[in-house]
Amino acid sequence: MQFDSDASTPEGALEDATTRATQLRAEINRANRLYYIEDAPELDDAEWDARMQELLALEEAHPELKTPDSPTQRVGAPPSPGFDEVVHPVPMLSLGNVFDEDGFRAWYKRALDFLELESAPMVCELKIDGLALAITYRVGVMERAATRGDGERGEDVTANVRTIRSVPLKLEGPPEEIPPVVELRGEVFLPNSKFSELNIEREAAEIPAYVNPRNAASGSLRQLDSTETAKRPLDMFFYALGYVEGAESPSSHWDTLQAINKWGGRKNEWTRKANTVEEVMAAIANAGEVRESLDYGIDGVVIKIDSLSLQSRLGFVGRDPRWAIAYKFPAEQAETTLKAIHVNVGRTGALTPWAELEPVIVGGVTVGRATLHNKDEIARKDFREGDRVVIQRAGDVIPQVVEVAAKNQRPDDSQPYEFPDACPSCGTETVQTEDEAVTRCVNGACPAQFERLLEHFASRGALDIEGLGERVSQDLPRLGFVSNIADVYRLHERREDLLELEKMGETRVDNLLKAIEASRSQPLSKLLFALGIPGIGSESAEWLSRRFHSLTGVKDATEEELLAIDGIGPIVASTLTDYFSVEQNRQLVDDLIELGVNPIDDTPEPSADHPANGVTFVVTGRLETMSRSEAQNRIKSLGGKATGSVTKKTNYLVAGAEAGSKLEKAQRLDVRVINESMFIAFMEYGEVPVRPETDS
Ligand SMILES: [Zn+2]
Repeated sequence: MQFDSDASTPEGALEDATTRATQLRAEINRANRLYYIEDAPELDDAEWDARMQELLALEEAHPELKTPDSPTQRVGAPPSPGFDEVVHPVPMLSLGNVFDEDGFRAWYKRALDFLELESAPMVCELKIDGLALAITYRVGVMERAATRGDGERGEDVTANVRTIRSVPLKLEGPPEEIPPVVELRGEVFLPNSKFSELNIEREAAEIPAYVNPRNAASGSLRQLDSTETAKRPLDMFFYALGYVEGAESPSSHWDTLQAINKWGGRKNEWTRKANTVEEVMAAIANAGEVRESLDYGIDGVVIKIDSLSLQSRLGFVGRDPRWAIAYKFPAEQAETTLKAIHVNVGRTGALTPWAELEPVIVGGVTVGRATLHNKDEIARKDFREGDRVVIQRAGDVIPQVVEVAAKNQRPDDSQPYEFPDACPSCGTETVQTEDEAVTRCVNGACPAQFERLLEHFASRGALDIEGLGERVSQDLPRLGFVSNIADVYRLHERREDLLELEKMGETRVDNLLKAIEASRSQPLSKLLFALGIPGIGSESAEWLSRRFHSLTGVKDATEEELLAIDGIGPIVASTLTDYFSVEQNRQLVDDLIELGVNPIDDTPEPSADHPANGVTFVVTGRLETMSRSEAQNRIKSLGGKATGSVTKKTNYLVAGAEAGSKLEKAQRLDVRVINESMFIAFMEYGEVPVRPETDS
């Protein structure tokens, strides 16, 4: 190493070391970029390695030279105890799916109708089968990397992500062109070729092989010891910006991708623009053709509306953006033997048949069980135990049995399957209503239903009570410890009895009781979801929580109030009021409150004190700056109601150009008519006085 001989004093040595380290870092970073981002290596492996070793030695001799963005940081930091939680400043989205051209056309048409446009340019991207990551850079230097998690909260995997060579530790380009804070998002994956190598190594070491590259990537990213992650050749493509501070975003998605690439974040080269449904379909066909030749898994194509201002006008339905959709490739299929048919009783009493299969690999995953949907499906397709059957899976969808492979090759003793006409758990005769394909056990006291409910109540997406899994959810009711949900919060009174149980032991009992205690502080939305109210998913639970603030609030909500929530339709509204009209369910809520399980959602409701709150609007005619759907969304988001026809109860008619019969009717009924700019002023500033509710 040349600097050693030149340096005669310690000060001189440090100065030289600083210069040399800077030079080495620049060379290594440049080499990495050429290799990983531009696919044009400049240094060969040995040359790269020599520089890296020299830099490592330098930093070891002069620890003060180490910088967080030094390429040496990619070799891994000391093990960390678990991962910290990260709240995403901008939630990470999920995407809706379509599976064929008709589905895509329908999506595109809905978007155009919403915008009242004839067409909108799009961008098509390969849907990489990996893990979404959000990486935050502050003044151009990587600060934090987080997994998607549930979209709202992920895990801090910064130390591990530093080891991924295609992830820039420092953004490139003139500082004035890099936002002071910027979050780059993309997909991390393990190349297929490396996946096979990794599994060969694992098998040699007698460690269970990963089922697919996606799992391997996930496993690698979540290593507690980042030196382990560093050994896994993970790779990454970037495709979006998340949180951005102190800079204007580009005006289109396409330009965003170019900006990210300029900063050193690799984009997927296949990405292309499309202006029509035909161009999108051609792109999808092309993706299907190149799929086999790629060194990473893709399971479809993501189509996004290119203009960011149109994206923000389109907004969201629930958590899915209206401006992007995933076109999924057809499911992968395989043939195997249907060993036996079993029936599960779900928490709402639905009897769900499932197939026990001879394990078979489909789309890179070993499948041993698959859904048979329902009684009618089994009868229609004549599935029998012992049949050779075709099964399929698409993406993360539960595998399903598609059809019998060869009915004529059945053995002579093959018998049609007889669906049980009584609940396998409680023996109650099952019911199958005409309008639904589901066979149900309608016994409200059915043990199997309650066990499932308990399991759901404690599951990760619900109250996340560790130690109350499938087995304990069965044991506690069967042994008489729990006969309704409220009893969960009475368990601590029976600690001594629990200790008597086989297989429990003091640690497990205390951990369970501790987890139950901790679940009291879960937010209201989680509790509402956990109660397993028919039709209430985790998203609608959030809407209810935000709107009604407490268990009592939700319990006493009227159908009309429920319908005013954007996203809740008449079916869910009536199911919910039905649920709370049952005395036992009202009692359960009262019991929970008495037991101190009464989370309050005090998230300020921006619309609560807006004058539009509770006011009824009808929007008609053609508006200049927004579509009617957007205007209606705007109204609902402020707590107002947007209805379709003018009645005496209408407070305002928003009349755009060429307003017709509704305008006449409003004038006849003396409903206040406002134009678009008055409407906007009202929405923005709440300045148009509200008409009193004293219709005469
Ligand atoms: Zn039953």
